[in-house]
Amino acid sequence: MTRLLPAGAGDAAARPDFYPTTVRPGIGFTALSTDGNGRRGRITTAHGSVETPAFMPVGTQATVKAMTAEAVAATGAEIVLANAYHLMLRPGSERIAKLGGLHQFMNWSKSILTDSGGFQVMSLATLREVAENGVVFKSHLDGSRHELTPERSMAVQEQLGVDIAMALDECVRYPASEEDVRRAMRFTIAWAERARAAFPLLPGRGVFGIIQGGVDMTLRTECANAVTAIPFDGFALGGLAVGEGHEAMIAVVEHTTPLLPAAKPRYLMGVGKPEDIVAAVACGIDMFDCVLPTRSGRTNQAFTRRGEVNLRNARHADDPRPLDPDCGCPTCHGYARAYLHHLAKAEEMLGGILLTWHNVHYYQELMNGLRGAIVAGTLADFRAGFAEQRARGDLAPL
Ligand SMILES: [Zn+2]
Repeated sequence: MTRLLPAGAGDAAARPDFYPTTVRPGIGFTALSTDGNGRRGRITTAHGSVETPAFMPVGTQATVKAMTAEAVAATGAEIVLANAYHLMLRPGSERIAKLGGLHQFMNWSKSILTDSGGFQVMSLATLREVAENGVVFKSHLDGSRHELTPERSMAVQEQLGVDIAMALDECVRYPASEEDVRRAMRFTIAWAERARAAFPLLPGRGVFGIIQGGVDMTLRTECANAVTAIPFDGFALGGLAVGEGHEAMIAVVEHTTPLLPAAKPRYLMGVGKPEDIVAAVACGIDMFDCVLPTRSGRTNQAFTRRGEVNLRNARHADDPRPLDPDCGCPTCHGYARAYLHHLAKAEEMLGGILLTWHNVHYYQELMNGLRGAIVAGTLADFRAGFAEQRARGDLAPL
């Protein structure tokens, strides 16, 4: 395998010059202010700063679906998520490395976090065999056989040149037997140590460990204690938003967040709906990612301050009003509900583009509102106003 970085990558002179040497090894995190357990902070990476709490639009295949990188940046997003599993299979991490790294490949100059592939191996790959050393699976694309070990996953993410890599974990389906959850947790802990050891210390780049344990609080505690003993740059809660529901998810977040070091960023993986994010921010979570704003945009669903709106609904056919009169996005500035409805009915590509743009913008505005509320010490009021506005529902029909 061609390595983008030489084995002695601790030597600054040997490093490609797109890693600024003025940034200290690992990523930085500063908690700027708090309100209850909620906190407003700043992550610094080789590609700039990320104001937290932050939402990362999902760019699984090195693209936030239906959006240009310029449009994603214009929503205020400072970090996107890409996926090591997908990119190692196609087009290949070695190819991306030769083309200058993932940032250059996808024309995104801000921060990138990659998922390790553990979740995708669970959800997409056929014939997966999990063993102490790693996972052997067949590609969902062509049936080819691959082995993903903690070291291989780190090498892939290092080749991609991402700012934040995730340690390989084992995800189990929900619901799962206690035996399966316990085994997955044991592998996740063992793999975490190997992942940290395999990822070099590089300026502005870091690796996060993942806490598993399902909805079992004892296992979550055990896993959190073991994984936080490893010197990661941040910690993630994995294995949630897999069907356990809002209450169970928030119960795990409330239980586990205080077990994570306050000096490091905390990331809730795969979450979520706006109400999940608001509740988890109040528990002290700093980072989120979810396919909802982009996937929903392609299926004519919009997230608004007044809740979710389905643009296929006939009630919009003659409605000249914007989707959300309080939204500052280009969709709400230039296009009426009647036009968005027409695009949905005609199954025009632009419909998905405009709704994705609005949805990603909405999520970024939500995070901006949460950050402002924490600084002002009004997070409780923000939560109450958020719930009240959504409970009122969509604009009354004309
Ligand atoms: Zn909008």
